[in-house]
Amino acid sequence: MDGRQWKAIIQAMAGAVNGQSEYLSSLDATVGDGDHGVNLARALHEAAQQVADLEDPTPAAVLRATGRAVLNTMGGVSGALFGSFFLGGSRALPAKAALTLYDLAAMFAAGLAEVQQRGKAQPGDKTMVDALAPAVAALQTAAEANLPLKEALLRAAEAARGGAEATRDMVARYGRARFLGERSLGYQDAGATSMAVMLAALADEVGD
Ligand code: ADP
Ligand code: MG
Repeated sequence: MDGRQWKAIIQAMAGAVNGQSEYLSSLDATVGDGDHGVNLARALHEAAQQVADLEDPTPAAVLRATGRAVLNTMGGVSGALFGSFFLGGSRALPAKAALTLYDLAAMFAAGLAEVQQRGKAQPGDKTMVDALAPAVAALQTAAEANLPLKEALLRAAEAARGGAEATRDMVARYGRARFLGERSLGYQDAGATSMAVMLAALADEVGD
């Protein structure tokens, strides 16, 4: 996965979130303020434009520019968290031209660590962490098993989707949804669902 491919991946993530933005905002509307999908779509659109202008970037440079754009465009707690995911991930990468599955797994693990360090959420707290953590585990397992990249990404996307769905049965402890307490049960978390949408776009964009 080189920098050119990463530009296309950010573009694909932006397109996928944009296509689902009303759905994602509606998930946020049931327990929060209903702005999530629209805000994330706008932030990723901005990121895609910024990375398109980079000449021959490393994957780390694409992820860094994405993180900065998301931080600057999205604002709020979740903007900081989504931005931190990309920035934390980029910092874990060597400045090399193409990433292996091992690099990718390390990148995702570092992104998750950054999100948790900033946001303090643990698995089970009904946040984006509940989609990211199983995806990271799937990538690490796939890397150790030497699976082909596409297969690894499909498994990570599936793990994230399952993780996002499992948030229905969780009580929110972070974000605006925490004010609802037990009433947040039964609704899927917006941020976790977005992460799953982004991972599906990543898996989709990478060829066999
Ligand atoms: P806001 O609450 O500022 O309107 P969004 O609606 O854009 O933010 O995003 C809400 C999402 O952010 C939640 O669905 C959840 O996944 C995520 N989130 C909120 N707080 C945290 C946290 N402390 N750690 C991880 N994710 C969080
Ligand atoms: Mg919101």
